[in-house]
Amino acid sequence: MRTQRKRGAEHAGAPKGFLGTRLTRRQFIGYGIGAACALSAAGYGLKRFVDAMGNSGPTGITHDAPQEPGKWSKEASFYERMSGRRTKCVKCPHLCLLSHGDRGRCRNRVNIGGTLYTLAYGNPCSVHIDPVEKKPLFHYLPGTPILSLSTAGCVLSCKNCQNWQISQSRPEDTRNTELFPADAVALAQREGTPSIAYTYGEPIAFYDYWHDTSVAAHAAGIRNVWVTSGFINPEPLKRTAPYIDAANIDIKGFDDRRHAELNGGPLQPVLDTLKLSKRLGLWLEVTCLLVPEWTDDIAEIDRMCGWIARELGTSCPVHFSRFTPQYQLTHLPPTPLSTLLEARKAARENGIEHVYIGNVAGAGYQDTYCPTCGTLCIARRGYEVVENRLEGGRCPTCGTAIPGVWA
Ligand SMILES: [Zn+2]
Repeated sequence: MRTQRKRGAEHAGAPKGFLGTRLTRRQFIGYGIGAACALSAAGYGLKRFVDAMGNSGPTGITHDAPQEPGKWSKEASFYERMSGRRTKCVKCPHLCLLSHGDRGRCRNRVNIGGTLYTLAYGNPCSVHIDPVEKKPLFHYLPGTPILSLSTAGCVLSCKNCQNWQISQSRPEDTRNTELFPADAVALAQREGTPSIAYTYGEPIAFYDYWHDTSVAAHAAGIRNVWVTSGFINPEPLKRTAPYIDAANIDIKGFDDRRHAELNGGPLQPVLDTLKLSKRLGLWLEVTCLLVPEWTDDIAEIDRMCGWIARELGTSCPVHFSRFTPQYQLTHLPPTPLSTLLEARKAARENGIEHVYIGNVAGAGYQDTYCPTCGTLCIARRGYEVVENRLEGGRCPTCGTAIPGVWA
């Protein structure tokens, strides 16, 4: 899934058995997505799995569950038992109807003997400490490090996914480390990160692990950040929302038919999630990846910006992100800078006050300005905060309150 991210050190190899050992940040950042590329030699090739997904419908993937739940399994929340040992998962809008032995489209939930289990509980394949700006969140505790977790799996199947090696894999196929919710919280405390991000893959896919870790984090005074496609049903979101301190939600295009074709799911549930998140009081930033030929139509971007301004408010920060050729779209060029600038112009014309351009080096694209007087409030270079001039969350020149979570 997900927006483009600079990956850099994430490709480095993984230290093994690090739990209980204090690692330096540099060592720690080395564990993750790159390591996940080394899919297990279980004889189950990723290509075969992707092919199987291509043939899967609303019933998920047939005959793909393990015989028994394992150490990192837990009975799932948000499902219904049906006749004949079938289950209906109601966590995300796919509503997978599974028979015994089947696996849901998120790749993480399986029906074993009429009970729905998650296989992604305490076994992340990516564990990093990132700057919070990388999520991206620009109006939430700027300049702070954030412990970032992901398991395998995703509820969508975006053709442009940057993290497809993990998002389109099963938890059994990635190289994982054991990190139960309490371990994750202890790690954040040890490393001194004020927040934990559920990111890279899709937290909705590892819903129970995300939720339980978030609850444990809050109990320990650690905050939670949700980085997501927003493809979730309202009830699970309402349950977890009290523990979410900030969210970055993608809008992956604004044409329903093309959204389904590009991302493997309809658009409307995402828009519903955005509106519900706003109503529930989450601090919200939106990312829009502009994929050439798919989501770069300026009239469509204009309509989307109008919707954001109307439904989420003009103070909701918007990040336009540059596509780089990935996964099934390697034949497409990177997004031209001119397209990103046009999108920014459209957003500003719709009244959106904080518009950023991501994955493009260049002065000013990631800076925060006061919408009243134009003063530079936060200067950034890439993901680094060069200077934060806010005073108690206000413009240092005119005192306008800049929306966000600053302390
Ligand atoms: Zn000002």
